[in-house]
Amino acid sequence: MNKDRLKKLARSKRFIEGIYNYCDRWCERCPQTSRCMNFAISEEEFPDPEARDIRNEAFWERMSGIMKETMELLRGSAKEWGIELETTVSIEDMKEMKAKDEEVKNHLLSRSAKKYSEWVEDWFKERETLFFETAAAAREGVSLEEAIEVIRWYQYFICAKAMRAVRGKVEDEEEDNAFPSDSDGSAKIALIAIDRSIAAWATIRHYLDDDEKEVIDLIAFLDSLREAIEKTFPRAREFIRPGFDEIDKNP
Ligand code: SF4
Repeated sequence: MNKDRLKKLARSKRFIEGIYNYCDRWCERCPQTSRCMNFAISEEEFPDPEARDIRNEAFWERMSGIMKETMELLRGSAKEWGIELETTVSIEDMKEMKAKDEEVKNHLLSRSAKKYSEWVEDWFKERETLFFETAAAAREGVSLEEAIEVIRWYQYFICAKAMRAVRGKVEDEEEDNAFPSDSDGSAKIALIAIDRSIAAWATIRHYLDDDEKEVIDLIAFLDSLREAIEKTFPRAREFIRPGFDEIDKNP
């Protein structure tokens, strides 16, 4: 995509600014694709679904092209607005960034969310055959397939968003604790993902009469993670995500 096209898209009124910042990135299930610039770019750049596959090399090459064009745009605008973009990072800055990375990684929320993703991975690995058979047997029970899809979609997403929220908190604490903050937004989408995952696990439970103990443990674990996030970010649920939680005044 060339710079002019990118600029034109950025100016379009049909898009909701920043809608993709606090969504769950599940574009196939998103009710706001027509209002999302991220989606429009990806549709124009990758019309062939295979080309959109993140494992496809072409994807990364194009992404890198988009990134370069975006940086050029940013630099151009910075010059117009008289802003000096930081081009060098000192060793001190790098040390500080590394220390913060460690703090985020070792935070209880990050560790718990990571534990959940690994647990889900092990759980599915152990039951691969069983699930294949159950899903095939319950052909009409699309809900089982959907439940698996939901759990798999959010398995790593929860951890990524919880860590982003923690990072914001680690950095915000040195400044002020204003609301709404990016941490609140990230915590909110992590909470939504947890809510949906709990519902999906509850669906799976119905299909596993004699193997439900671990499912209940997983649900309980997710529930305690949800509580911990709510305690750490008490206003997260109030966060208004553009395009999803507010009444759209420009349909
Ligand atoms: S807002 Fe919707 S369409 Fe845009 S990136 Fe998020 S999930 Fe995809």
